[in-house]
Amino acid sequence: MAVKIVHLYPDELNLYGDSGNIACIVKRLYLRGYNAEVVNVGVGENIPSFDLLFIGGGQDREMMAINKDIKRKAEALSYYIHKGNTILAICGGYQLLGEYYKMSNGSVMELTGALPFFTEGSRHRMIGNTVFSTPFGNVVGFENHSGKTYLSKDIAPLGRIIKGFGNNAEDKTEGVIFKNTFGTYAHGPVLPKNPSLADEIIKRMLGVDSLINIDDELENKCHRQLILRYT
Ligand code: GLN
Repeated sequence: MAVKIVHLYPDELNLYGDSGNIACIVKRLYLRGYNAEVVNVGVGENIPSFDLLFIGGGQDREMMAINKDIKRKAEALSYYIHKGNTILAICGGYQLLGEYYKMSNGSVMELTGALPFFTEGSRHRMIGNTVFSTPFGNVVGFENHSGKTYLSKDIAPLGRIIKGFGNNAEDKTEGVIFKNTFGTYAHGPVLPKNPSLADEIIKRMLGVDSLINIDDELENKCHRQLILRYT
């Protein structure tokens, strides 16, 4: 069975191996008998229908470079998010789903407004290994952002910080989850070392409640080892 993964802005937004998240999903699907087609969507291109849409992270410079285009794509993104399509957005890609990003130089980027949250740059970069609890188990990753994201009360964080900064180094929240949209500051790529989160996203994109087990001995050993090391 074929599934379609859209990779949005693969050239501009792809920090710290974020595209490795797509490779992880493709492999975990393959081991379960699914073939995945990855469609790159860049500036000036429309977002086609998809089973999973992925957006990676980027520096402020790259985010400004695609800012006009992301506003052109705002209606489509918001439609897919509120329809319940599965989306994974990392760091800068996550920030793009909010209302605006006021950068540390004071300039304000109006964003998609697809979800009720905003980001404000800070002089203090939030960098380091991060561990946070989620409904899908603890997640370990790496964060590097100056933006502080503040969620409205109408949406839930993906997790609660155990180690690291999270959304804003203030309220112990990390990321966002709304229907089947997942946002997180965790780079790494985050999915290979967090198989439970990877499978949750696969379940959502396939619209199933369970998946056949695959051998995650090495992945789980790495996951446990990193959490022990960072907490
Ligand atoms: N440029 C944004 C920030 O600094 C996002 C960084 C990222 O994607 N790693 O907050």
